Amino acid sequence: MDQLIKALALNKQVRVYIANTLNTVNTAVVKHDLWPSATSVLGKVLTMASIMGAMLKNDAAITIKLNGNGYIGNVVVDATSRGTVRGYVDHPHVHFVNNRGGLNDEMTLGNHGMMDVIKDLKLKDLFTSSIEITGDIAKDFTYYFYESEQTKSIVCLSIEVETNNLASISGGLVIQLLPNASEDTISTLEKLVPLLNDFREQMRSSSLSDILSFLFHEDYEILETIPVSFSCPCSKENFRKALITLGTHNLEEIIQEDHQIETVCHYCGEKYLFNELEIKQLIKEIKNE
Ligand SMILES: [Zn+2]
Repeated sequence: MDQLIKALALNKQVRVYIANTLNTVNTAVVKHDLWPSATSVLGKVLTMASIMGAMLKNDAAITIKLNGNGYIGNVVVDATSRGTVRGYVDHPHVHFVNNRGGLNDEMTLGNHGMMDVIKDLKLKDLFTSSIEITGDIAKDFTYYFYESEQTKSIVCLSIEVETNNLASISGGLVIQLLPNASEDTISTLEKLVPLLNDFREQMRSSSLSDILSFLFHEDYEILETIPVSFSCPCSKENFRKALITLGTHNLEEIIQEDHQIETVCHYCGEKYLFNELEIKQLIKEIKNE
């Protein structure tokens, strides 16, 4: 099971979120038949969503939408505060390699476009904020935290994808300065930045708490450990409600033309079939309302 650790560190003046999302990302690879570049981009956004979900309280939820000028099209990810995430991309079959042999996120996502972050804090209105993206996902989220949440952050995302399209490493780390952070803490944090160049290697060989010990020695306190997983709450009942909104005329047309309808959940690829009898039942319900 994947995990996410929330901690305080450096004299409780920084907040730390570190997550291992390997199984979560590989579930997405299988559900959506992702090719390596799509695994890299969706994997990083799923990882960030799990972390940003964990920043929320109670039953709040978050949706992150990236829409760049790259080949992958839209990248849409939902997460809850309880560690469940789900997501999809418009075009899962993309594979671009950069001149160093690594996966090219910028080519995949595009170097120009927007990211919308929508928070459902279970209040009357949703909170939405948008920033421009560059195709460097970690940098774009760092900018998002600074611009939209006035928080200075370090964001590290690491994913390694094998030739069978499955990830062998996937994880993320976000370190955020709390408003009370002293100059000393800021300079200690700056000295940590070079250590994060090895984040991928650390994710390969160390546990999350070992990485925290490596970065902060004894100066950290774990607040919470949350299980992370790919989970979609879609159901046939939800699609039934959606079909009812089509109205009797459209439903009668479906019966005449195809005798059935198959609905597909974008987020998880799950298919729900409604046969003629079930569609007739929907029409009856609409007429009885
Ligand atoms: Zn679903």
